[in-house]
Parts: sequence; structure tokens; C-alpha cells
Amino acid sequence: MEMVRTMDKLPKIFLSCGHANGARTGARYKNIIEEDYNLAIIDSLVETFTARISLENLINKLPPIIYDGLIATDLYSPIPYELLIAQDNKENPLYGTYSQRQKKAKELGVDVIIQMHLNSAKGNYGVVGFSRDKRKLIEKNEKIAHIFAKVMDEELVPINILKAGKNTPAVQVWNCNSESTGAARRVNNCIRTSEVPTVLIELMFLDNEVHNLFLDSEEGLRISTRVYIKALERIAKEVGSWK
Ligand SMILES: [Zn+2]
Repeated sequence: MEMVRTMDKLPKIFLSCGHANGARTGARYKNIIEEDYNLAIIDSLVETFTARISLENLINKLPPIIYDGLIATDLYSPIPYELLIAQDNKENPLYGTYSQRQKKAKELGVDVIIQMHLNSAKGNYGVVGFSRDKRKLIEKNEKIAHIFAKVMDEELVPINILKAGKNTPAVQVWNCNSESTGAARRVNNCIRTSEVPTVLIELMFLDNEVHNLFLDSEEGLRISTRVYIKALERIAKEVGSWK
């Protein structure tokens, strides 16, 4: 586990990369390998995160009022959460199968787990899945699923990456449980044992030609990263209101 930043009382978010770090391997199509792509999103997110923390530390060293009318803390908005990621080595306590990670996350006091995936079945929509198997978590799971879905909607629908069907929204929130079948069952299997609020993200379809081309571009990685940054920020605020 890498604790990118330690600060008491901030919500702890664990960004868990699907298929990497001890889980089974994921899907691949053309240049995109599911786990590698999600690890690239994590790297790019951590880069932004680290830059923001440095800025925050620098500004905190300045006098509170830099000059008349310019207040140091107005120069940035602090990141409202602590980020945990799993590094790819076995010493890492968050390394392992999804259920092992979830168990460890619970012990480490994680508030939310975001399980990152890319879909494959040539669809053109996005999915945010949550489980109803742990009854006391249903409400929180559902809440964070909708927050994440809204960000995907804001970022990926206007640029025509995710598209609504005749009777289906461009970003679908899947409400899964142990009775689910097919793809919803596979989603549920990754998250059902979690005793921490958890959602599973299928950002887009790596084998959809438009999505594949987008993911493989610099812009695609930048926007995918932004979706996570924006969603984590909003989820952290929501989690803050639970405490
Ligand atoms: Zn996957």
C-alpha cells in the first residue's frame, strides 16, 4: 500500500485496480490491456495528486496574507481525501484477490473502495455497479454509485463517447446481488464480500472501436483520469458528511 498522503480524519479512498496486483488477468483488445490501462490512469492520477500536495505544502509555508488582498489559502483547494493504491508487490497489504483486498481495506479503516475496470462486449455505454448483498451498506453503495455515474455522464457523454440506447441511459447504474446473472453477476462477484462501501466502474468498452481509439489517445487518458479525479473529490465530500 502506498499512502500518498497522510492526514488525520480525511476520508480514505482505496483505488483498487481490476485484474492487476494479484487478481486474475483482464480483457485485452488491440493496444489496450484492461489492467495496464487502469494502472496508467492511477499513475496519472497520482502525478496530479502529488503535484497538488506539493503546491499545498508550499502555500502552507507562505505567510497567510501574501500581500494586501491575496490570501495564501485562496490559491488552492485542498484535496479532501487520503488516497490508497495497491502497488504491484506481495508485501503490499492491499495486494491480492478482490476479497483479500476488501478485507484488508476494512482493517485499514478505508471509507470507500473504487474497483476500476474496462468493459468488453462492444457496448457503447458506461457502467457503475454496486452490490446489495451487505444490507447495511446498500444506501451508501447506491449513493456513491450515482455520484460516480453523474461524473461519467458529465465528462463522457457530451464528447459522444458514452451513448444512450433507445431505452437505456448512457451511464447505467447496476444494482447487483447474489441472484444477479450474466454480466451483473460478474460485477457482483468482484464486490459482494466488501464490508466497506464499494463501487465497480466499467468506464467504457475496450473492444468498442470508438472507445478503443479514444483510450489509446493522450486525450483519452487525460479525460479518463479526470473522471476519476472529479468523482473521488465528490465522493470524499459525501463520505465527509457521513461522519
Ligand atoms: Zn474487468
